[in-house]
Amino acid sequence: MPREISLIVIHCSASPNGDSLFRGTPGTPSQITPAQTIDAWHKARGFKRDAAMCRIWNPDLRSIGYHFVLYSNGAVATGRAPAEIGAHVAGFNQKSLGVCLVGTDRFTSAQWDSLRVLITGLQKSYPSARVVGHRDLSPDTDGDGVVEPREWLKICPGFDVAAWIAGGMQAISAHLQED
Ligand SMILES: [Zn+2]
Repeated sequence: MPREISLIVIHCSASPNGDSLFRGTPGTPSQITPAQTIDAWHKARGFKRDAAMCRIWNPDLRSIGYHFVLYSNGAVATGRAPAEIGAHVAGFNQKSLGVCLVGTDRFTSAQWDSLRVLITGLQKSYPSARVVGHRDLSPDTDGDGVVEPREWLKICPGFDVAAWIAGGMQAISAHLQED
């Protein structure tokens, strides 16, 4: 049975802007992809994927908590299968998908393009899902119905997702990383 998805949560990897997270020598078996780099971080944090899902979907990634990773070169990598519960936002993993942009608060034009295409596609697949930034799911501690900057547990994903959607999902110039 497909999993019910009510939230699509955008994250950043909180790694230095401009660092692709590729490691090793390109074109050789020593090369490690950004998804594998993040997988190693999540392994260190104790995240563990479902063994049965792991066998049929990205078996090289045993830990990664996200469903998608958007590389600085514009590539979109998958992490966990959409049917698999992620590990990316406390309290909201059950019915959500996690999308991670490599960087902290500046992303390449290729990443902004990929984000628009990916989110547009996911909205078609999950028309009732709300698209939010990780920080938007912080507790509304003063109960005024708005999660204000002082209430953010993290700044992730480093930009205002609601404003990005309202602006037609265009790259935000203040958050544009030169490549
Ligand atoms: Zn996050």
